[in-house]
Amino acid sequence: MTTVRQVAIVTGASSGIGKATALSLVEAGFDVVGTSRDTSRITPLDGVTFLDLDVASDESVTNVVQQVVDRFGRIDVLVNNAGIGLTGAAEENSLAQAQVVFDINVFGVMRMAKEVLPHMRARGDGRIINLSSIYGLIPAPYLAAYAASKHAVEGYSESLDHEVREHGVRVLLVEPGGTNTGFEANSTRPDTPIQAYEKQRRIADKVIATAVRDGDAPATVARAIVAAATDPKPKLRYTAGPMAGRISTLRRIVPSKVFYNQIRKYNRMAG
Ligand code: NDP
Repeated sequence: MTTVRQVAIVTGASSGIGKATALSLVEAGFDVVGTSRDTSRITPLDGVTFLDLDVASDESVTNVVQQVVDRFGRIDVLVNNAGIGLTGAAEENSLAQAQVVFDINVFGVMRMAKEVLPHMRARGDGRIINLSSIYGLIPAPYLAAYAASKHAVEGYSESLDHEVREHGVRVLLVEPGGTNTGFEANSTRPDTPIQAYEKQRRIADKVIATAVRDGDAPATVARAIVAAATDPKPKLRYTAGPMAGRISTLRRIVPSKVFYNQIRKYNRMAG
């Protein structure tokens, strides 16, 4: 069956930005498929069909995209929202921890993109919207693997956009600043704590928790995602919220030494 309404998939729609996005896309007129690793725990959302998905699993990704194609006959928009954080100094994170972050935040995006692209190319139309972060643009001490994963999403998305544009498909980036969700509570803690980093790690944990708690509402990010999904002439990058907009601009225009010092000051690091 092919529906006449546009169809959007939102990964990680059980909470936070994904949930707000799924609801906003319904309001914008889309048939929305939201995903969670465990849909049995989901509170139903009006207009959203939930499917189980673990973006770290090839099989799960293949399965979910096939189900959407079988049920709806088309995929117009994919929002790669699922993601996790990892706190602590980089040396305090085992490689296995960093690999889990990449498997979700980076390879999860690639798995989903590769799976939907044949369908989008066949129709000569589609948008893949990848959740980056201001930490895809700037350094994030005590969130190094996370920042590396979002920088990877930036490089992958911008490159892929060049490849698929002539096939009618666009790949777009949404870059939120701190957003008030369960992100910080859901972040993984370092598995090999080292005394030498403890004092600064505690400060960094507070800085991160405050940025999330005092951050934008998830609806602010959802608005940027809906704009990316519907703008007649979409932009490659959408910052979400005033803080993210300022940081993105400053990153481009402030001399690197000044920017470096600002990062240390913001993170309350000595020297
Ligand atoms: P949440 O922790 O509230 O949401 C994360 C979502 O990801 C959950 O719905 C979870 O769904 C899903 N998820 C986690 N692991 C997997 C997996 N292996 N497979 C499929 N889904 C998974 O955080 P946010 O809403 O804040 O985060 C959403 C995105 O926004 C992330 O990519 C994050 O990096 C980004 N972001 C967040 C910012 C913030 O300050 N909050 C700032 C900048 C970017 P479930 O558990 O149901 O499977």
